[in-house]
Amino acid sequence: MRLRNVKGSREKIEGSAFVIQEPKEYRGKWNAVFKNDNPIHIEIGMGKGQFISTLASQNPDINYIGIEKFSSVLVRAIEKQDELQLPNLFLIRMDAEELEEVFAEGEVTRIYLNFSDPWPKDRHAKRRLTSRQFFARYDKVLKEDGRVIFKTDNRILFDFSLEEVVEAGWILENHTFDLHNSEYVEGNVMTEYEEKFSSLGTPINRLVAYREK
Ligand code: SAM
Repeated sequence: MRLRNVKGSREKIEGSAFVIQEPKEYRGKWNAVFKNDNPIHIEIGMGKGQFISTLASQNPDINYIGIEKFSSVLVRAIEKQDELQLPNLFLIRMDAEELEEVFAEGEVTRIYLNFSDPWPKDRHAKRRLTSRQFFARYDKVLKEDGRVIFKTDNRILFDFSLEEVVEAGWILENHTFDLHNSEYVEGNVMTEYEEKFSSLGTPINRLVAYREK
């Protein structure tokens, strides 16, 4: 998602108390930001933030960090958080390629990937957030029993991701090609993209992956 340049977005990001401006400074110290030792769940590519802000309001004992690479999109998530003022949700503007510079080994308990960009060209495969290159980054920052949870409407990207889980040496805990008509739908929180695609009748794929350490 890349919205047209939103005027004043840079100032809005720099002025927000909910955005961590220099996230690399908190590597290994994220619990100090939240002022508790609760588990940390992150969403990479959160878009406008509906999913993560809903989860944060439902689960006050979990700390959430929403990551988004584009300022024009991040400002929409800031606007939501300005209304909600959730103490367990912070936002970061960054590219997920820098994940290991921002989180220490085992600092994250769960990673959500929702409707990630497909990067359809083969030569861009390593940019997909479910590529083996990204699983190697997740391996570094995730706790031993941590989980990666991925949802998408894109069946081609999903099939690729199922293969990459195995290639990366991870284990598939479960997966479905039609989340909304599956046993896993209970408690499902919809993202903006999920609402759009499921209203058009497109089935939603979801997988949960972990590794044995
Ligand atoms: N998760 C939201 C949803 O489901 O409604 C937004 C989905 S949108 C298709 C994907 C989002 O991921 C975009 O906002 C994009 O800017 C962001 N994104 C893509 N690659 C990223 C990366 N490497 N690091 C951080 N954000 C990324």
